[in-house]
Amino acid sequence: MKTEKLASTFRVDSGKHFHLKDFDPADTGHWRSKQHAEEALQQGIVRMAELQDVLYAQNRWALLLIFQAMDAAGKDGVIKHVMSGVNPQGCQVYSFKVPSDQELQHDFLWRTTLCLPERGHIGIFNRAYYEEVLVARVHPEILKSEKLPDSLTGKDIWDERFEDIRALERHMARSGTVIRKFFLHLSKKEQKRRFLARLDEPGKNWKFSESDIRERQFWDDYQKAYEDMIRNTATEYAPWYVVPADNKWFTRLVVSTVIVATLTSLNLAYPEVDDAKRKQLEAAKRLLLKK
Ligand code: ATP
Ligand code: MG
Repeated sequence: MKTEKLASTFRVDSGKHFHLKDFDPADTGHWRSKQHAEEALQQGIVRMAELQDVLYAQNRWALLLIFQAMDAAGKDGVIKHVMSGVNPQGCQVYSFKVPSDQELQHDFLWRTTLCLPERGHIGIFNRAYYEEVLVARVHPEILKSEKLPDSLTGKDIWDERFEDIRALERHMARSGTVIRKFFLHLSKKEQKRRFLARLDEPGKNWKFSESDIRERQFWDDYQKAYEDMIRNTATEYAPWYVVPADNKWFTRLVVSTVIVATLTSLNLAYPEVDDAKRKQLEAAKRLLLKK
């Protein structure tokens, strides 16, 4: 089963000609069978664990994975399944919700900056500073609550935010943080189906939140905001992946394939053992064998 092409098919690294409508949320590529996809996912998970071990040992690169999506697109499930094989010691997940009072005392990139992954680690952002050009754009009252001086919240604010995000990501990339961004692209119809399941199935009731239905009414505004976000922040150094999200098994396969391809492209290697270190190891072994 070929997975190589999956990583490039959904990659957007230049916003110029990007149109969300060119991407089908129900796409499953050439993958017709959920079972085959699941086998490939399992292989990806094993490979990811091996690569993460080297990433950690080498301690040079960091990997930042950002997930953005409409509600019920499956962010949580992707994070849970795709990362199930990795060593939790080298991986941190952060979920960014409505900012706290303390967070609102700072610039919009502050809280996420505190959580960026250190070298050798994988950092996962479940939502990120991108909310600041999504929910804050769809609901102008959110921007108002951010306590910015009036003179700084003119009509250029979204372009300025895009510029600042690009600059931050370029800086991170230049410092050794590899960034991959995933937009889980769900259809409105499939969201409805999943919300209904949350209402109908007792085991899923806890997942339902009133605000999900409220936000659904702003669907078109969100789609526009997502499209503009990708147009303005898709770059070579921090590409977006527009991942079809109507079939969870396919979403997970694409995400895991992208992560494996990314880590593979770094040509990771365990640190070399030099002569001095080798002597140390030999001396330690002699000592241990004595008694
Ligand atoms: P789930 O519903 O799967 O538990 P979630 O990520 O949707 O996960 P919620 O607590 O339902 O978590 O929602 C978080 C909310 O916080 C979202 O509505 C999101 O838009 C909002 N949010 C995140 N960042 C910001 C921000 N910077 N400004 C305003 N709202 C934000
Ligand atoms: Mg939610």
